Amino acid sequence: MSLLALRPHSLQQATLEVDLGAVTANVRTIKSRTAGELMAVVKADGFGHGQIDVARAALAGGATRFGVTGIDEARPLREAGLTQRVLSWLNPPGADFAAAVRLDIELGVPGLDHLHAIARTAPGARIHLQLDTGMGRDGAEPAQWDRLCRAAWQLRESVRVVGIMGHLPCADQPGHAANARGRDLFVWGLRVARAAGLSPADHHLAATAATLSDPLSHHTMSRIGAGLVGIDESGTVRLRPALTLTAPLVTIRSVPAGTSVGYGHTWTARRATRLGLIPVGYADGLPQLASGRAEVWVAGTRRPVAGRISMDMTVIDLGPDTPLSPGDPVIVFGPGDRGEPTTAEWATWAETLEHEIVTGLSARLRRKTTL
Ligand SMILES: *Cc1c(COP(=O)(O)O)cnc(C)c1O
Repeated sequence: MSLLALRPHSLQQATLEVDLGAVTANVRTIKSRTAGELMAVVKADGFGHGQIDVARAALAGGATRFGVTGIDEARPLREAGLTQRVLSWLNPPGADFAAAVRLDIELGVPGLDHLHAIARTAPGARIHLQLDTGMGRDGAEPAQWDRLCRAAWQLRESVRVVGIMGHLPCADQPGHAANARGRDLFVWGLRVARAAGLSPADHHLAATAATLSDPLSHHTMSRIGAGLVGIDESGTVRLRPALTLTAPLVTIRSVPAGTSVGYGHTWTARRATRLGLIPVGYADGLPQLASGRAEVWVAGTRRPVAGRISMDMTVIDLGPDTPLSPGDPVIVFGPGDRGEPTTAEWATWAETLEHEIVTGLSARLRRKTTL
């Protein structure tokens, strides 16, 4: 047996721990805030947390179906044996809609091109018409909405409109005028759809932030993505982050004051200290922009990153005193309970969103799930 194996805390490699219990608890918390159904949006590999794991954990918390972007993102849910309803809302008009119907996947329809392509190639499809309620991004423009609804009604032998969907651009700012405008537009869109003869059972406008902060946006269902994994842009409730990234100290060296570190020598030791090396870098998803600001958690305290985060490794200023050995764990981020940095802090350090941090973590990281 090696010496290291005897050290109780010795870690062999960087490990990303995914706390699926947190996902389930988050869904329960969100469910307590709305009477509507919850669609778990498990795009981007479940916001980087593992699509199938997050999907199952969300079901355990009370979500009843799934949402994804393209059809290829829906496929793994079926392959994993999940039988709940799935909606795919981001496909070009030439996508394999027939495959979607075979897999019993519902389709978002943002305009006539999609509607006609689906009616032609995928008869029997169940669709959700998408209205642009202010995003200026996806969904039909209001000026096209009436025509889209009428065309969907005329094609009712081929496609069945089971839902109407919109999306709010500024839901993380509850007082923003775009929210009321988007809600009104959505209600109008629903009225136009019904006047055209459609009777969509699902009408869904709210994502996480609107679900938590704006009951008027709830309708029959909410599409929850960020909230599943503990990201609450509304700041109204405590959700639980689900990721902990731990990395072992690979080496530790003592250096004199004046020692410069890393590419470009952007950091220089002001006193004699020890430098610890951890085997995670920007190729693992730690943003280089966070260099010079980021901290990690070592032996019960915060320590600064020294110099630039490299592709595969990062140097930590461990200070001169704390007894530490190679193999000891460094917490790069976690839920924050112990004082360790969170992905929200990493996002601030990197001048981005927490969403970008969690979805940018690389497949190279070894993953471990806990229930
Ligand atoms: C990503 C996405 C969601 C989920 O939004 P969150 O704010 O992450 O909950 C909902 N609807 C659409 C159309 C999306 O693209």
